[in-house]
Amino acid sequence: MTVTAEAPTVAPFRFFDLQVVRTRRLGPSLLRVTFTGEELAAFHGGGRDQSLSLFLPQPGQHAPVLPPAEPGDDGRAWHAAYRAIPPHERAVMRSYTLSGQRRGPAGTVQEIDIDFVLHDDGPAPAGPACRWARDARPGDRATVLGPAVTDNAAVRCRPPQDFDHILMWGDETALPAALGVLAWLPASASAHVFLEVPHRDDIQPVVTAADVSVTWLVRGEGCVTALEALRATRLPECARPYAWLAGESGTMKELRRHLVRERGYDKRTVTFVGYWKRGLSEDALREQPAAA
Ligand SMILES: Cc1cc2nc3c(=O)[nH]c(=O)nc-3n(C[C@H](O)[C@H](O)[C@H](O)COP(=O)(O)OP(=O)(O)OC[C@H]3O[C@@H](n4cnc5c(N)ncnc54)[C@H](O)[C@@H]3O)c2cc1C
Repeated sequence: MTVTAEAPTVAPFRFFDLQVVRTRRLGPSLLRVTFTGEELAAFHGGGRDQSLSLFLPQPGQHAPVLPPAEPGDDGRAWHAAYRAIPPHERAVMRSYTLSGQRRGPAGTVQEIDIDFVLHDDGPAPAGPACRWARDARPGDRATVLGPAVTDNAAVRCRPPQDFDHILMWGDETALPAALGVLAWLPASASAHVFLEVPHRDDIQPVVTAADVSVTWLVRGEGCVTALEALRATRLPECARPYAWLAGESGTMKELRRHLVRERGYDKRTVTFVGYWKRGLSEDALREQPAAA
């Protein structure tokens, strides 16, 4: 008789309860919130554009209200239970990017960073996540649904193995993700990168081993649009180009269309993720048929 030993499987995502340790202003529009939590020893961020689902308390609540996670659930039962809690009581759910993780003496993750865009100076009123971050104090509580394994589906930047050039565009919400991708690129890679921010002081240092040309588009200084900037750029003749686009949905779709129709990119080599949509909260965005 043959006994097949099954490798123990680890669910790729799990909940981590967190407390705020400190906050730091990175620029007029960007605030870094650093979190800690006892369960972070089991946190394994995959780098690049690793995203997280963040759960925040409603105003007046001490901690986010969430249903318990049941072992063996693929997430569907949990989500139904979450939706069954009245909207003004259940935790606010928003998507964010892991912008940093630090390990303690035991080698396990002890702190994680999330960089929040403070979008409260525009015509639309600030959303609950933006308001929560703006008022965050040490000890404030939050929960993330985050990675328990480094190779997980919330890392979306996956160029083909033999790519020879990467074109990147990201606005301020995608800045942590773009910087994460740049930090991961090998020295053999070449990249054209367009990063759009509201103010000059939002510009962040770029750390990468790759051969990179970075164009910062500062909206507060009346820069050209992302599409105009891209149209005016001569990209190298490459056999295997790849593109990664993340940010406001409408802009991102425009750029993708340009790459596919005018630059001849194969659709399958363009990764694009709408991080937010002008005029719609993330809750409203999730209700849209395309999101389903
Ligand atoms: C995979 C992924 C990763 C993300 N990573 C990050 C990240 O690391 N940092 C980050 O700041 N955001 C990130 N975002 C975007 C963030 O989830 C949205 O901006 C979200 O809408 C913020 O929630 P809110 O409660 O502040 O606003 P909501 O309640 O969702 O929206 C309220 C209003 O604000 C508008 N709005 C939302 N975001 C912006 C903005 N940036 N500028 C101007 N108006 C806005 C909406 O259109 C709406 O009218 C990410 C999104 C995704 C999908």
